Amino acid sequence: MTLDIVGADLPVRLRSGATVRFAHLDYAASAPCARPAAAAVERLLPWYGSVHRGAGVRSSRSTLEYERARQAVGDFVGARAGDAVVFTRNTTDALNLLAHALPAGTTTVVFDGEHHANLLPWPNPVRLPAPPDPDAAANLLDRALDRIEGPAIFAVTGASNVTGEVWPVRRLADVARAHHARTVVDAAQLAPHRAVDMAELGADYLAFSGHKLYAPFGAGVLVGRSDWLDGGEPYLRGGGASAAVGDHPGEVTWTTGPARHEGGTPNLLGAVSLAAVCDALTGTDRDAIHEREQELLRRLRAGLAAVRGAVPVSLFDDAHPRVGIVSLALPGYDVAAVAERLGADHGIGVRAGQFCAHPLARRLTGTTAAGGADCAADPAALLRISFGLGTTDDDIDRVVAALAAEVAADREGVPGLT
Ligand code: PLP
Repeated sequence: MTLDIVGADLPVRLRSGATVRFAHLDYAASAPCARPAAAAVERLLPWYGSVHRGAGVRSSRSTLEYERARQAVGDFVGARAGDAVVFTRNTTDALNLLAHALPAGTTTVVFDGEHHANLLPWPNPVRLPAPPDPDAAANLLDRALDRIEGPAIFAVTGASNVTGEVWPVRRLADVARAHHARTVVDAAQLAPHRAVDMAELGADYLAFSGHKLYAPFGAGVLVGRSDWLDGGEPYLRGGGASAAVGDHPGEVTWTTGPARHEGGTPNLLGAVSLAAVCDALTGTDRDAIHEREQELLRRLRAGLAAVRGAVPVSLFDDAHPRVGIVSLALPGYDVAAVAERLGADHGIGVRAGQFCAHPLARRLTGTTAAGGADCAADPAALLRISFGLGTTDDDIDRVVAALAAEVAADREGVPGLT
């Protein structure tokens, strides 16, 4: 089945009353649904029943499909023998699950370039400044790990949700391994754009979300080494996670394996639709998808270079590999208002704000913490354009033209802007 997008031709009415095809350029927040995900849900619905909880044909079929999905998602990222594949709600949930299961006293090392989902869950965090280049990242990590006693884990993003830059995960994971520390990769923005292999990345754990991978039915996943997961406290206490329960409080034997952390009835349709996209991506020419995305990225960056007042932000240098995400600083402009007009007057969906990466947004905009949260007056606010499967040249040209028009209009309307 092709990886067509459901709703690719969605018409939307503009403020002017005209109707245009919606240009969805906010894939980094949630990508649209791919046809195989929708088809998998449609196919399974007549059979839908409880997973691991019944003897009838619906339940046995549902259980089989759920476990097949686990295998498919694991295969998609190169899960190794001994890795657990645990279904979660999303990346945030997956990383919190791992944080919860870490052995007592584990220290976590993380850069300030992370999404809050990979910044906030960790116990005993050592936070390192967002580095100016991969060499600095490796040096900072090396020095930080040198000072740590006991178990340690390094948490890093595969690709930045703000700059789109692909982080040098393998190199950093090698540094971590040299210090006997483990590495967890937040692949929320990497997996939708690049083939991911845990061994190649040097990842002990990997997390990602279905809704960013064209499967918006509420599943995410944590894949990785079983020992800490089996030794950790169950993430959700209840049915499914417990093997035997006695008559007195505390008399409970917890199960091991993925079920230990999947208490309650699982999200079968989320898991199956996520697996369907994983299978479809594996069966397609990912090099061709990558090349097409890079073509769109070049087109976007070339177009934006001519938009006066729009400054793409980066941590690393211009030539650094990146996925289909570009964020712009618009110094002196009300970024939220520009994004609102792109939507209402041009039928283009982008995102404004700090994208749940406040320390990184401040670093990239040279602002301080006083700027606060996502809001119109926020000096650290950026405007993000992100794309993927189904994005057309026309989408890219439209956002460049609309942005140029809106920035020019703002410049005329705002005293002091030239
Ligand atoms: N990590 C990164 C890099 C992200 O971009 C996001 C979401 O934007 C997350 C984690 C959190 O994903 P979710 O909201 O699906 O939990």
